[in-house]
Amino acid sequence: MRVGVQLPDGLKRKAIEICDELEGDIILSGEHCFGACDIDLNLLKEVDIVYHFAHTKILDLEKVVYVPYFIDYNVEKICEILSNLKERRIALISTAQYCHKLTAIKEKLEMIGYSVELRKGRRTELPGQVLGCDYSAIKNSEAEAIVFVGDGIFHAKGAAIYSGKKVYALNPLNFELIEVGGADFLKERFLLISKCVGLKKLGIIVSSKPGQRRLKLAEEIQKKAKERGMKSLIVYFGDITPEKLENFPFEFYVNTACPRISYDDYRRFKIPIITPQEFDILLGIKKDLELDEI
Ligand code: SF4
Repeated sequence: MRVGVQLPDGLKRKAIEICDELEGDIILSGEHCFGACDIDLNLLKEVDIVYHFAHTKILDLEKVVYVPYFIDYNVEKICEILSNLKERRIALISTAQYCHKLTAIKEKLEMIGYSVELRKGRRTELPGQVLGCDYSAIKNSEAEAIVFVGDGIFHAKGAAIYSGKKVYALNPLNFELIEVGGADFLKERFLLISKCVGLKKLGIIVSSKPGQRRLKLAEEIQKKAKERGMKSLIVYFGDITPEKLENFPFEFYVNTACPRISYDDYRRFKIPIITPQEFDILLGIKKDLELDEI
């Protein structure tokens, strides 16, 4: 049996150890893999099964098995730190690698009088899990503060913009607790939108990755652009790199692929990349900035 293995970039260094545990004739995907949306469809055609590591299921694809990869951490220490928060009603969120202990954290905190929300989101499988394209685990949250347990602050910032609430980011590896605001992020986004004012040549990015493909949305954007006298073309990409974008004559791009490309990677690109919601602000259709979600 031919077995395909897809690892996120952070796990590729462990490819030999991981593949030693598997049976069959293994073929590794050499492509980047940024999320469960990003199944290697070319590899899928060649093999009997694909093991997709470290992400939870988004797409129900035949022959794809999602293999979780959880990172261990100390629940007691996390609860000890959180027990110092002045907010008594909190919502817990995390990413796929750290979500498995949120239920234990919730139970311990509730035993000492906290009220803890822990909800499943729209595109996610685990309670409290958020993605860069889905914060619905905290939709209409009644918590006074959101606590993100995980590394990095991207998701915590996203939660701050999405919820408008106070957000703490607690790193379960070094136990650093910081408060994260969305003000800088908003400033950066509006600055980027302002750079697109008056530009007329627009590329609309569509991803070929199955869980990020939003061709219909791209067509709606193109229609709006045409009504405003802009010249636009839809461009279909696999991985999106600065070199690929700079080959075209566009003055700015609207990105319908993964929202993290707009929010997290935009500094790598010389040409402004804005989200569909930001394009609406540029056109005067909307005033307030909403996060792009899939
Ligand atoms: Fe993650 Fe982006 Fe894929 Fe959403 S679209 S799952 S944020 S890589």
